[in-house]
Amino acid sequence: MVCQNCGTNIDENQNFCPNCGAAKADCSNTSETTEQKVTDPTSQAWSKKAITGFVLSLIGLIVAALPCGITGLVFSSIALTQTANKNLKGKGLAISGLVISLIDVVFGFVNIMTPFYYL
Ligand SMILES: [Zn+2]
Repeated sequence: MVCQNCGTNIDENQNFCPNCGAAKADCSNTSETTEQKVTDPTSQAWSKKAITGFVLSLIGLIVAALPCGITGLVFSSIALTQTANKNLKGKGLAISGLVISLIDVVFGFVNIMTPFYYL
């Protein structure tokens, strides 16, 4: 059969059009509602906060700076709720950023506290 949305030939055992992602049932009916019904995972936007949080946590890990770790922690936490609620990509990145940020904060505190042990 042919997709009425884009004209691509669809295999009979495929449920979605491989070209435009429209459901086969929608292809044979009206194409107006297809865009609302079908969510294409490749068109999902990346959470910018997930990327920012991850990068900050990495910088924090390299320079062992507490502010980077805390900022990374904040960005990653926001990103984690964003990726869960707003259908944004970057959940794995947000979790990685969160874990690395926590390590940053621990090392950052150790870094700050260490000189006092020698006083
Ligand atoms: Zn199509």
